[in-house]
Formats: sequence, structure tokens, C-alpha cells
Amino acid sequence: MRFLEMWNPYTFVGREIASDRQVEETLRELYSSKPHIAAATGIGLASLTAGLSGAVWTGVLATLVALVCLAFRIVIERLFLARAPGALDPKWMRLFVTGSLLSGFGWGLSGALLLYGASPATQTITVAVACAIAQGAAGRAYMMPGTAFINIAFVIGQLSIAAAADGNFVFLPAGLLYFSFLSSFVLRMVRNRLRQLRSEQTADRLLAEITEKNELLRIANEALATKAYEDPLTGLANRRKFDRVFAEAVAAAQRDRSALSLMMIDVDHFKSFNDTYGHQAGDECLLSLSRAIKTAISGNGGLPDDGSLVARYGGEEFVALLPGEDRAGALAIAERVRLAVRLTALDALPNAPPRQTVSIGLVSCLAGPATTREAMLAAADEALYEAKKQGRNRVCVAATPGDTRLKALSGGTA
Ligand code: GH3
Ligand code: MG
Ligand code: MG
Repeated sequence: MRFLEMWNPYTFVGREIASDRQVEETLRELYSSKPHIAAATGIGLASLTAGLSGAVWTGVLATLVALVCLAFRIVIERLFLARAPGALDPKWMRLFVTGSLLSGFGWGLSGALLLYGASPATQTITVAVACAIAQGAAGRAYMMPGTAFINIAFVIGQLSIAAAADGNFVFLPAGLLYFSFLSSFVLRMVRNRLRQLRSEQTADRLLAEITEKNELLRIANEALATKAYEDPLTGLANRRKFDRVFAEAVAAAQRDRSALSLMMIDVDHFKSFNDTYGHQAGDECLLSLSRAIKTAISGNGGLPDDGSLVARYGGEEFVALLPGEDRAGALAIAERVRLAVRLTALDALPNAPPRQTVSIGLVSCLAGPATTREAMLAAADEALYEAKKQGRNRVCVAATPGDTRLKALSGGTA
């Protein structure tokens, strides 16, 4: 801030770097009428001394002037506090400056009245009160120094005029010296205030940057976590996710004593598909089939959060977890999956055959303490093996987990 700028009564230190909250706090402090109550009390005491030494009307007049200034100050403080929240337009700066200059003029006038032709005791107390008032103004001048300088100049100036009229010509140079002391004090405080605002601004900026970086990091971590559980080719859940969800589903089904079904789905003759049409076409085929399987399963009640999960188990094998589905329900879904794959057109693939089929091994159980993932997987696997053995493109269902007596329940061939 340039030196001359500080003499402008409307200069609000650091307005350009202060946050609205800081401006609000500063104005609240500036508007406080407490120092004005102290000043009016001081003037009242000096007036009492004047009255006691015979200058009753001088004392009354000086007190009246001080009280008018105080009343005005209290009114504008009330207005400021009652304004619409967050309204910080320049009107409130202008009102503060007006109030402050009026007070400076009033204090100076009261002081001059009390000083002129007064007893030594009244003069001493008046000068002491005037110094206290000027120092009080200087102590708060780091916020709006220009206003404070003019305020102090009013007090010292009017007292100097009264002293000169009384024949005391030393008062003015002494007052100027005092004013320059106060000015250097104010300048230091303004510098510190600016330093404080700048460091708070830097801290706020750094905090905002850290918050933003943390948010980006959180999003990146989320994306990473999603990727860690996703199969890159099909976008389905991968085996790691399946293992986790399966463990949770078994525990939940055991707790609720509810039904749980597991499907193991394997693409038929996929090796020869790859050998004939190439690995690239094989990949695209797997992607199309995975979409068909996913759609067929999420059609299960139409609820995406019914707890079902389709995952790529590895290679050309998929698994589907169906919490809450008993054997009949799961079998219907498995049939839907088989048909959906059968009906998936692969025309988009160059040189590919128009259709592919899958075999499905299914296991359903009412979960109990003996239910384990291993037993369910082994049963589904054996049912799948049975489906392959019976000619593929069919669903086989295991009686209970661990039960190796498999039974072909559905088998439509192409
Ligand atoms: P079956 O009907 O008995 O299941 O016969 P299959 O040929 O499907 O079984 P097999 O296990 O012999 O062959 C599986 C083939 O799946 C072998 C491999 O080339 C292919 N495969 C596994 N993963 C991928 C993949 O990510 N992309 C492609 N294109 N092929 C894959
Ligand atoms: Mg296989
Ligand atoms: Mg296969």
C-alpha cells in the first residue's frame, strides 16, 4: 500500500486481498461504540472537573457535544448490525467514515471548550483524555488509517487552536510531534495487518488447493478401485470381485437362512472358434456374449441392485451369483441366459459363425452352517461338466452343494 493512499479516509486496508468474512469482522470492530462510550466518559469527567472549578456551562456544553456524538455512533452501529446479512456495499464504509469524522470533530470541540480559559486541573485532565482518545483511534487505525488520521487531526487541531487562543503556542508543535509518533505507530500496524492478511490469503489458497487435490485423489482412487475389480475385456466384475461378493453373499444367506444360487457358464467349443476365426474375433465374441448374459440376468425382476452379480471367472467362463433365488427361479434364469446367448447374433464379426452356445452348471441351496463357497463351486462345476457331457448348449443342476448326483433338467439343443 502506498503512503499517500493511507491518507484517503475510505482506504480499507487489504480490501483487495481480504475475504468477505474478514471485511465483515473488521467493519464490526470498527463500528463498535465501546471506545466512544469510553471517550464520552472521559469528556464527562473533564467536564465535571470544569464544573467543580466554576465553569458549569462549559462542562454542560462539552458533555452535550460528546453525548450527541455517542448517540449518533450508537444509532449507526445498530443500523450496521441490523443490515441484511452479507450486505457489505460501500454505503457502510461511507457511513462509518461520516460517523468517525463527526466523533473526531465532536471530541475536538468538547476538548477545545474544556481547555480554553480553564483551570490547570481541568486542562490537565482534558489533555489526558484527548491523548487517550487519540491513542484509542490510532490503536484501531490499522483497518482504515485515513479516517483515524483525520479523526486524530481534528482532536489535536482544535485543542491546539484553543490552547493558542489561551496564549499557549507550544501546544501546536507538541501536538504535531505527538501526531507523528502516532502516525509511525499506525504505519507499523498497517504493515503488520497487510502481512497478516497476505499470509491468511496464502493459507486459504493452500487449503483450497489441498482440498481440491484430495478430491481428485479420492476420485482417482475410486476409479482405481473400480478398475481393480473389473475385467478389462468385458467390463464385467472380475474374479477378485466375485470371490469377495460370493463370500459376503454366503455369509448373508447363512445369517438369513435364505436361498442362494450359483451358475457356472462356459462357452461351447470356444477353442475351435478361436482356431477358426482368430483370437481377435474370439475376444469380440466373448464381449457380445458377456453382454447377453448380463442383460439376461439383470432382467431378473428388473432390479439392478437385487444382489445378483455376473463375473468373468476366467477365459471363456462366466459365473453368476443369484442371492435369494431357489432352484426353480435360478433354473428359469439359467434358461434365459442360455437362450439369450443362443439368440445373440454375431454377424458383426467378420467370418464368424452366426451363433454361439453356452453350457451352464447350476447349484441352488437354502444356506445353512454347512454351506461353503468351495462346495457350491465344486457342485456348479460338476453340473457344468455334466452339461458338456450331455452334448452342450444346456443347463444341468446339482441337487445340493456337494451332491454329485447330477441331473439334467433342461437340455434344448440348437
Ligand atoms: P468346451 O465346449 O468343452 O468348453 O470346449 P472349449 O474349446 O470351449 O474349451 P477349452 O477349455 O478347450 O478351450 C477354451 C478356449 O478359450 C481356449 C482359449 O483359446 C479360449 N480363450 C480363453 N480366454 C480367451 C480370451 O480372453 N480371448 C479369446 N479370444 N479366447 C480365449
Ligand atoms: Mg472352459
Ligand atoms: Mg468352453
